[in-house]
Amino acid sequence: MSVQFGSRLLGVLLLIWMMGFSACDADDTDAGSSDSDSDGDSDSDSDSDSDSDSDSDNDTDSDTDSDTDIDTATDTDIDSDTDTDIDTDTDTDTEIDTDTETETDTECGEPPPADQDWITEYQQEIIAKLTGEDEIAPGVTLESRSSAGERETAREYLLEVWQELGLTTEAHEYSSGANPYAILEATEESDEWVIYGAHYDSVSAGPGAEDNASGITGVCAMARYAAMIECRSRNLIFIGFDQEESGLIGSRAFAKYLKENDYNVHSMHNFDMIAWDGDDDLVIEVGAPSDGMVEFYEDVVANSEFDFELKESTLAASDHSAFKSQGFKALMFIEEFSFGDRSPYFHTADDTYDKIDFDFMAHVTILANLGIAELTRVD
Ligand SMILES: [Zn+2]
Repeated sequence: MSVQFGSRLLGVLLLIWMMGFSACDADDTDAGSSDSDSDGDSDSDSDSDSDSDSDSDNDTDSDTDSDTDIDTATDTDIDSDTDTDIDTDTDTDTEIDTDTETETDTECGEPPPADQDWITEYQQEIIAKLTGEDEIAPGVTLESRSSAGERETAREYLLEVWQELGLTTEAHEYSSGANPYAILEATEESDEWVIYGAHYDSVSAGPGAEDNASGITGVCAMARYAAMIECRSRNLIFIGFDQEESGLIGSRAFAKYLKENDYNVHSMHNFDMIAWDGDDDLVIEVGAPSDGMVEFYEDVVANSEFDFELKESTLAASDHSAFKSQGFKALMFIEEFSFGDRSPYFHTADDTYDKIDFDFMAHVTILANLGIAELTRVD
């Protein structure tokens, strides 16, 4: 399904591009041929026509020619006159122009480095609260994020984290739960949305430090990084999915909501279990990516100063599948779950804060930050 969607999308994009290209071509060709007509044919046509045949031919020819002449003449006149006026006559205008360009360059400079030095400390603080290592609210310590009450506590905390970053927050409520999310709108005109998400619920057995306090904590750090980028060409959503452990219930509800409301979703990036690296090789598994998404990240890495090894799998059992089911492009980042290097504490009471590999979490977060910088880049 995602392959069909991907190729259909690619086809449509190709078609649009070709139409744009051929339209440009047509314009160029028209302009070129008009020029050559007016330079060459028109003289001979009008001479021979006026002497001999029909007036209508002559009229048509001369109309066309004069249109072309007028266009060309007007364009040239306006451009050269205006430029000349500004440059020579009004010094003030010239100065203002220069100043504006300089300001724009400064504002939309390169995005901040993806490897922010606050990442690990920030993630330690958030994940400690989500896993009961620290109080999440005065007098409140979570044992898991499974019951309706525990999930609500976690949800309210996540909304606070995002509000502290200055982001607009919402809770997408559905029949049995709610998906808290933060919106960071593009600074340029855009109707495209890129979604960074992770489930925030856990199994009832324990605090689910790795599964999936790690993923949602990573998404919080990504939101903080994205908010530091001054010029952004796409809209961003950072979201925590409810009830993933009960069968992707929250993400299915949200993907359906986006589809029904005609959101132009560029892509969805899912983070599930990103804090285990038993062999310390820093390899990241990419689960069931839609067409082109691994290539996107490989290009981003190739153009960066960082090294990442990505291993592709067909692992679909997480929230990215809910988006793919609605025809959206999506992928998942996860520890090497399909390749034997995965947490032995998965879905047990021992999936606790002390098992978290913060270096691996930061590694995955830096990769995501590089992607955010590229996907919001203003040309
Ligand atoms: Zn999970």
